[in-house]
Amino acid sequence: MIPNNFEYFAPTTIEEALKLIDTHGDDCKILSGGHSLIPILKLRLAAPAVVVDIGRIKELKQIRIDGNTIRIGASATHAALVKSADLKKHCPLICETAAQIGDQQVRNRGTIGGCLTHADPAADWPAAILALNAEIVARSSQGERVIKASDFFVDVMTSAVKANEIVTEVRIPVPAQPQAAVYLKVPQSASGYAIIGVAAQLKLKDGKCEEVGIGITGLAPKAYRAKSTEDALRGNALDETNVGAAAAKADADAADAMEDIHASGEYRRHLARVYAGRAVQAAAKRA
Ligand SMILES: Cc1cc2nc3c(=O)[nH]c(=O)nc-3n(C[C@H](O)[C@H](O)[C@H](O)COP(=O)(O)OP(=O)(O)OC[C@H]3O[C@@H](n4cnc5c(N)ncnc54)[C@H](O)[C@@H]3O)c2cc1C
Repeated sequence: MIPNNFEYFAPTTIEEALKLIDTHGDDCKILSGGHSLIPILKLRLAAPAVVVDIGRIKELKQIRIDGNTIRIGASATHAALVKSADLKKHCPLICETAAQIGDQQVRNRGTIGGCLTHADPAADWPAAILALNAEIVARSSQGERVIKASDFFVDVMTSAVKANEIVTEVRIPVPAQPQAAVYLKVPQSASGYAIIGVAAQLKLKDGKCEEVGIGITGLAPKAYRAKSTEDALRGNALDETNVGAAAAKADADAADAMEDIHASGEYRRHLARVYAGRAVQAAAKRA
């Protein structure tokens, strides 16, 4: 299908983009990689009068390490994140997650900011962003808001970003043991979206788990932190018994499980438990 007519703007600064958003209000949509928005426009599920393409704003594409913080511009593509040498060294979980998104074409166009804002419950980024204790920065003409990853995903396709805001940056504390991390997923074979995706980031001390972040996508209507599993791991040796017992709680923090033609809720819960165990073991092996 062909989208409704809309006016197209391609600003080159964030300020210019915010001015357009303020001027056009609810009639306006932000376009980033377009891999979700364009299909929505074509299906006429949305018919904005104005589309503001943020793809020419260079500032939004930066990837840099700033002291103990990794700063990723919202318009950084998945492909750019796969390739970043800085991230391979300081946070390989980001590169590993990006590499498993869709196919090469999807990775070349899709952006981290677009993916997070779209809040698809089967998207990959939310799992990694939760496991890494990230913050998402949203800017409006009134100023900047910093939103914790754990507060960012509200419901199916609903994030905490307001209509007058642009997501500008994802901030991630540099992990203490960058290599002690993994992203494992069971992809839906046509799209690559996660039937289940588990990201784990560990900090080990004297053979025990000192700190852990586990993010799970694909199971619940929004990605979540597997807090029950994390609590069971913290302070303990990561042997088969302890990891098995902790992983058995991986679906405990998911109140509802999604069901569709690809997998039942019960099967997704089973996969979450199995993959949480595998992810923790794999991350521990890499430490
Ligand atoms: C065939 C196919 C396969 C895919 N497979 C996967 C997969 O395996 N795993 C996965 O996680 N994803 C997958 N995706 C999703 C894709 O990777 C993109 O991440 C996703 O479509 C959204 O990113 P985008 O940059 O294209 O955003 P857009 O489509 O441009 O925007 C999406 C939404 O976010 C809003 N938005 C975008 N950027 C901002 C911003 N900076 N501030 C505020 N609002 C913003 C837009 O207004 C829109 O509502 C797939 C997509 C396709 C088409």
